Amino acid sequence: MKNLVVIFCAFFTSFLVAQQTDYVDFERVEAMLVFNQLKADTTQFNSYNIKFKIVKATDSIYLDAVDMTFKDVVLDRSEVKFLNDGKKLIIFGDFKKGEDYDLSFLFAASPKKAMYFVGRQNEGRNQIWTQGQGKYTSNWLPSIDDVNDKIEFDLKFKVPKDYQVVSNGVLTSKSENEGLVLWEYDMQKTMSSYLVAVTIGEYAVKSKTSKSGIPLEYYYYPEDSLKVEPTYRYSKEMFDYLEDEIGFAYPWQNYKQVPVHDFLYSGMENTSLTIFSDAFVIDSIAFNDKNYVNVNAHELAHQWFGDLVTAKSGEHHWLQEGFATYYALLAERKIFGDDYFYFKLLESVLDLSRQDLTGNGTSLLDPKASSLTFYQRGALVLHVLKDKVGDRVFKQAVKNYLEKHQFETVETSDFISEVERLYGRSLTSFVNFWIVNKAFPYEEAFEILKRQSVFINEYAMVDCEAKSSKCAEYLKYYVSDEAKIKVISQVPELVTSDTFKNSLKVRQAIAMHLTKIPEHLKEDYESLLKDKSYITIEKALYNLWDNYPEERPKYLSKTREVIGFSDKNVRLLWIVLNLNTPFYDTDNKYELFNELVGYTSEKHNVDLRISAFHYLDLMKSCNEECQSNLEKAKTHHNWRMVKFAKELSKKLEKNKN
Ligand SMILES: [Zn+2]
Repeated sequence: MKNLVVIFCAFFTSFLVAQQTDYVDFERVEAMLVFNQLKADTTQFNSYNIKFKIVKATDSIYLDAVDMTFKDVVLDRSEVKFLNDGKKLIIFGDFKKGEDYDLSFLFAASPKKAMYFVGRQNEGRNQIWTQGQGKYTSNWLPSIDDVNDKIEFDLKFKVPKDYQVVSNGVLTSKSENEGLVLWEYDMQKTMSSYLVAVTIGEYAVKSKTSKSGIPLEYYYYPEDSLKVEPTYRYSKEMFDYLEDEIGFAYPWQNYKQVPVHDFLYSGMENTSLTIFSDAFVIDSIAFNDKNYVNVNAHELAHQWFGDLVTAKSGEHHWLQEGFATYYALLAERKIFGDDYFYFKLLESVLDLSRQDLTGNGTSLLDPKASSLTFYQRGALVLHVLKDKVGDRVFKQAVKNYLEKHQFETVETSDFISEVERLYGRSLTSFVNFWIVNKAFPYEEAFEILKRQSVFINEYAMVDCEAKSSKCAEYLKYYVSDEAKIKVISQVPELVTSDTFKNSLKVRQAIAMHLTKIPEHLKEDYESLLKDKSYITIEKALYNLWDNYPEERPKYLSKTREVIGFSDKNVRLLWIVLNLNTPFYDTDNKYELFNELVGYTSEKHNVDLRISAFHYLDLMKSCNEECQSNLEKAKTHHNWRMVKFAKELSKKLEKNKN
């Protein structure tokens, strides 16, 4: 058997020199995955069928399939010779140009990544969810790692009843048989394999319809019905706006959004199915600090830029991230106004200039560029290009680009040539200056923003780092909130009682930067504890507790009921301050300490656990239970948890010795 493999491999390498897409076009996958429980089951065989057309005669074709086992492999209803090398399923045959083929098999998978089985919170509250980009769908479903072959995926899932299945496309049928429910999804158009996705868990759903008639589905945990409105606020408005602004009808049958536990990123734009971190499932207070609006708009914009037209390779990644970032900002501009829009662009310019000054800048076309470059520089390039060629030309060019390349892969020149055609002039020097060059022209970008926005001009003018005579005036008279925040961050001692009369954002800046509280501002400062912002409450509570030791019981009593974000930021701080306030709530301290240690357990979300570990470490109180939870955290699916656990563990080990 071993020799045979060697021969096959040698034989196969010659084929690898050319791209598989030159030989074969995979057209449609139908697969059914069975989950008797919401746990990984490497012995469960699932059925699979794929149809393809041969473009150029060949003696083998392959599917990417990592660590899978196969049986009953059948090509056009006859047994066929195949090889499973642990990474690919290779099918041998006399494949003729122009012919259609039909391949079926059973497969069992053991995904170590790309599909995650997450158990958390209450017993039985389990989830399965996927992440294909950067992780490869071929870990759980035979598919094509190369983005350049777009396929129609129609997936079916058999799962225990009580669970909700959401996948790409439209749910066409749902039927129960022997305790398992079969969910059948149907796609009508093609997509790259990394955009295939599923979530399985306990969810309720709220539905709306876009102006154009597209069904919009907002999923949520059954106990979170009060959080649906703040979490999904502006979703429909942004959908309607983007469809109109992009000028190309939303390309898929429906649009679904599903929150999951301990997601790897903020969100992922799977075709017609955005999966996002449940840290964004928020109440109306948290909306003020940490809402889902930007991520929501970003993933939605990807349904066109990324899913409909997909970058051919890493070099052109900005065609996805730059466009998604820019169109998300345009949608936010519609909601939060021009000043918000220009301020975000200015922040990008400042971040990019810092990146260049530290020597970490790259060309926008460097496949190894930072996220900052792909996302923010990409967005700025589009903004500057629009300024140069005019709104009308820009909008029409984007529309033409999408129409011409829909369901295909694209490169930078595909977009630029559409703009050039309508603009009537060459954009070569623009492309070199803004896109190709390593250095980001931040001075030029800053000048454009100043020209476009009075608000940005004012913000640039207000600067208290060097001179201070005018700064007290800035806080008194009308300048924007952002400019006031800048002054407060630079010279916090200028804050007066009047400064507290400003907006939530300005008051938050006071809580963040005015850490030594003057006696005459004590009462104003105490009013921050009632603000509708969990960040403000957290900062104000700590600063008041720190500045006025004799008043600690008062501040703790006032904030006893506040929990905060999903990482319980206020609750954790409250417990820690309570434990460090000797004569307050004395009978309760043991219980509170146990509550804090309990938050390190795997029953809780990653952010909460990290924060609890962090506080216990600060108090030098990571006890046996805490350390055992830390050990378990090292094998978590979320890289942030693993990184944190390894670092803290190393530190604790070092302190022991
Ligand atoms: Zn993105």
